[in-house]
Amino acid sequence: MSYVPSRRRTHQVQIDHLTVGSDAPVVVQSMTNTDTADAAGTARQVKELSDAGSEMVRITVNTPEAAAKVAEIRSRLDDMGCNTPLVGDFHFNGERLLQEFPDCARALSKYRINPGNVGKGAKGDEKFAYMIRTAAEYGKAVRIGVNWGSLDQSLAKRMMDANQASATPKPPEEVMKEALIVSALESAQKAVDLGLPEDKIILSCKVSAVQDLIQVYRDLGARCAYPLHLGLTEAGMGSKGIVASTAALAVLLQEGIGDTVRISLTPEPGSPRTQEVVVAQEILQTMGLRSFTPMVTACPGCGRTTSTVFQELARDIQHYLREKMSVWRHQYPGVESLNVAVMGCVVNGPGESKLADIGISLPGTGETPVAPVYVDGERKVTLKGDNMAAEFLAIVQEYVETHYGEGGRKRAAPRLIPIRPV
Ligand code: SF4
Repeated sequence: MSYVPSRRRTHQVQIDHLTVGSDAPVVVQSMTNTDTADAAGTARQVKELSDAGSEMVRITVNTPEAAAKVAEIRSRLDDMGCNTPLVGDFHFNGERLLQEFPDCARALSKYRINPGNVGKGAKGDEKFAYMIRTAAEYGKAVRIGVNWGSLDQSLAKRMMDANQASATPKPPEEVMKEALIVSALESAQKAVDLGLPEDKIILSCKVSAVQDLIQVYRDLGARCAYPLHLGLTEAGMGSKGIVASTAALAVLLQEGIGDTVRISLTPEPGSPRTQEVVVAQEILQTMGLRSFTPMVTACPGCGRTTSTVFQELARDIQHYLREKMSVWRHQYPGVESLNVAVMGCVVNGPGESKLADIGISLPGTGETPVAPVYVDGERKVTLKGDNMAAEFLAIVQEYVETHYGEGGRKRAAPRLIPIRPV
């Protein structure tokens, strides 16, 4: 069995049917980009994100019009059979919205509070206290989400002044990172003092630079036992956003740090919002932390690859498997661990295909135009002609039915992840 990193021990937070922290699976989150005041559009996007695999979805609650629609969004989702917990993202006026719209306070499963955006001084303390007391009253979890771009300025100034007065001042950027952590920890302690149980609190300290994020979360993780929500804020667009998020999260997850994840991708125009969910799942799955969808191993192709048949087949197989998962995950438990190889020629094709559950080795340039298919390491059949893709998909479908259906030998039990002490 492959090595699986042990997880940091934390309080466990229950959010409806989801458990967050310690040995519970790392939860995939996402966020809508619809106007929350558009209840139908927001419910539709939450459902899409949920169908793609998002286990919790955050919606912005920024205006009275938005807060007034949260209960309707919840009930629309319930009517669609979607029980994905909703997280309310509050800034500046959260206490007023929670007070004026108790249905919103009840319909949300978790509140995200940014201590840098609740207000200054005694007024800010009052607003923070109101939100925390509301969460405690309704039994809701809270994420105290500190962000580099909206750090509590009075705290930052206090810490910078103290640093300047010290005999051995640290570089300002180190003080700012410490201020992020102190803001999260002090806010969490305030919340506990106000009556919110520790097992209702999740923390995050998001920054936009990979090395800073790693350093901040290592430190934060060592100084508390709250579950941590991971994410590189403002990760960016396309491959830059994916690579930066993966680089940061992979290091932390490998060290057992991180209990929920969100990939803050800026979607390319016309790209689905669900891309951030797919990326989060693929990070967790390729690291062996969770399984969501059968994975396709494909070679990159090279001068030996014939035409585009190979690329098209790899793409079609990946789409087919992802689409099927909405049904398969209920019908065929364990199928998410299936591994399919699609290889471009005889050099590595048979070897990789034998290692996968099912593999196909397509003919490279100058090779006989046939494609051997391997099942559980054995050569099962050789495909040829124009219908290879459909025939290969039929073999995959049959394999899933016989191996993951009732009585199938690969029908799996849930995987346990070891815990280590903080
Ligand atoms: S398996 Fe063949 S086609 Fe694929 S990268 Fe290797 S040599 Fe090229």
